[in-house]
Amino acid sequence: MKLILLGPPGSGKGTQSRLLCEKLGLPQISTGDILREARQRRTALGKKTEGYITQGQLVPDALMLALMEERLNQKDCQAGYILDGFPRTVAQAKEFDDRLEHRGETLNAVINFLVPHEELVKRLTGRRQCKGCGAGYHLEYAPPQRRGVCDRCGGVLFQRDDDKAETIEKRLAIYQDQTSPLTGVYERAGLLKNIIGVGGSELIFRKILHEIGLS
Ligand code: AMP
Repeated sequence: MKLILLGPPGSGKGTQSRLLCEKLGLPQISTGDILREARQRRTALGKKTEGYITQGQLVPDALMLALMEERLNQKDCQAGYILDGFPRTVAQAKEFDDRLEHRGETLNAVINFLVPHEELVKRLTGRRQCKGCGAGYHLEYAPPQRRGVCDRCGGVLFQRDDDKAETIEKRLAIYQDQTSPLTGVYERAGLLKNIIGVGGSELIFRKILHEIGLS
């Protein structure tokens, strides 16, 4: 199965793609995670893309497409994958579509998360992550037991640079401008499944399974 999860930052793509990967036994390909890891390890890719990420801008298409070509050619992608954060521009979608066609493959569905703007801002500003194990928290919705400390491993919690208030509005505007046109593209292709992304992650997960015919 090949799925794309589409939605603005903070809409729950990461959480739902992890649940889907567990259920389907497929790799979760989060371009944001790949870029953050490259940044942490100070690789050439990390150094090239760091500025875009911290400023909330999109990484250029050519770089993203090269990265994805390499990732999708890996063995674990043969049976399918869940894409979280790619494609993010019409040019990326077009190139990805050409790649599928060239290989005689098809996409099963594009899950589009709908979440009100104020809710997205609230989710993103409160989001925290563990430096040690990567576990996710939210100051209001899922706080750690001890402030600033990971429940799982005792690591320090931090806020992503691009989750700071000044960058969030920029990321949401870029989504609106550059990524949201993809909903029209996939709707015309008959692949778009709209999901209201509020109301608890288990409920949302059940709605997705229903949309893709697995419940
Ligand atoms: P995310 O964790 O998905 O919100 O991604 C974090 C950041 O990584 C984005 O704000 C972009 O700077 C960059 N990024 C991730 N995926 C893409 C993509 N498909 N195209 C361009 N930039 C991306």
